[in-house]
Amino acid sequence: ETRRLLEKQRKIDSSAVAYPDDIPIAFEEGRGATVRDADGNTYIDLFAGIGVLNVGHSNPYVLEAVHEQADKFVHTVDFPTEARLELIEKLDEIAPAGLRGNNRVVFGGPTGSDAIEASIKLAKYNTGGDGLIAFRGAYHGATTGAMSLTSNTSFKEHYTPLLSDVVHAPYPDPFRQETNSQEAVDHALEEVQAIVEDPYGGLANPAGIVVEPIQGEGGIVTPPEGFLQGLRDIADDNDIVLVFDEIQSGLGRTGEWWACDWEGVTPDAMTSAKALGGAGFPLSATIYHEDLDTWGPGDHAGTYRGHVVGMRAGTRAIEYIQERDLLAHARELGEYVRDRLREAADGTDRLADIRGRGLFIGAEFVDESGDPDGDAVDAIQQYCFERGVLVWTAGRHGNVLRFLPPLVLTHELAETALDIVVDAIEHATG
Ligand code: PMP
Repeated sequence: ETRRLLEKQRKIDSSAVAYPDDIPIAFEEGRGATVRDADGNTYIDLFAGIGVLNVGHSNPYVLEAVHEQADKFVHTVDFPTEARLELIEKLDEIAPAGLRGNNRVVFGGPTGSDAIEASIKLAKYNTGGDGLIAFRGAYHGATTGAMSLTSNTSFKEHYTPLLSDVVHAPYPDPFRQETNSQEAVDHALEEVQAIVEDPYGGLANPAGIVVEPIQGEGGIVTPPEGFLQGLRDIADDNDIVLVFDEIQSGLGRTGEWWACDWEGVTPDAMTSAKALGGAGFPLSATIYHEDLDTWGPGDHAGTYRGHVVGMRAGTRAIEYIQERDLLAHARELGEYVRDRLREAADGTDRLADIRGRGLFIGAEFVDESGDPDGDAVDAIQQYCFERGVLVWTAGRHGNVLRFLPPLVLTHELAETALDIVVDAIEHATG
């Protein structure tokens, strides 16, 4: 049955649909951290739809509110609803300390890219500037502004001209840059400073800095402490807007509500999507300091400024994480996963770096000469798939094994999955 669905999809769906050929899976049912395919095979899901299903597949607590809301009404544009106001208040409760009690939320359409576009407009509108600083390795989405901020040229080469005033600075990555943490941070910050302040830096009129506090698609690149604060200082000194893209890293993924909470650094604006819609409902938002709330009514308009069912689901999902203390669980289980990976790394030089926070984890593989080894990661992914574990990849060379399991993954399931992952690593690198 899986084969039939995949073949039919190939025939009638867009050629842009992306999934690895060697991971043939058609979903029939998802529960918590497991999914069953159309042939009845069960998988442990360490991917969660790119970190969307933080509270698991078809979480019953969330779905109860979804059904209730859907029975009443589904769409209102921007008119006030309990669902909307309740989520705004919930987001305030969990906002980074410096945004708590003094933020505004602009909801977006279904995609994270939409929230990125809103943050770009917010930065330009409030500063009168037009230049943006983004980072090498960044991924921010597939719309024009978001593509401009994304650094991988293969995503954008056919779509130029994009936003012209975007300069990409280095993102601190001590492993790839073969340097120590402090040097990596200093180097990145010096470059950002030069772009913002030096007439030769390439940006005439900077409006803002857009950065992932941990790079997701780029390979779970986790910047050493001091980077985010350094960006905060540069933004303050130059009156430009600091935007954290928490679309992949936020809402409990790292074991804190937001990845920036790990360092206690607050942005001026923050984008959220993916897990925001609770159990996979399409919803995005940009949460920003009230000082930036200068738009007039309709200045940033759209039909779907918030999906009512997604809002209910989002609030419920945050409550669920609070009630079950899934932040602590994510931190503990993340340690366990990293420990298991470290054990595997003891047996081989090919697993060269393990990083991330909470359940946002990357394991970088290299070949015998130390070069990025995407083939090894493909082999690991395939081996895991054949034994019932879904795990994904990331990184510029596809050589980072990426773990983004639902935060509801139990210790027992994690153990079963990691036994298979560790076997896969031995198999692919032994
Ligand atoms: N920002 C980050 C950090 C992301 O990981 C993604 C999606 N992977 C996006 C933005 C874009 O979100 P979407 O695909 O929903 O447009």
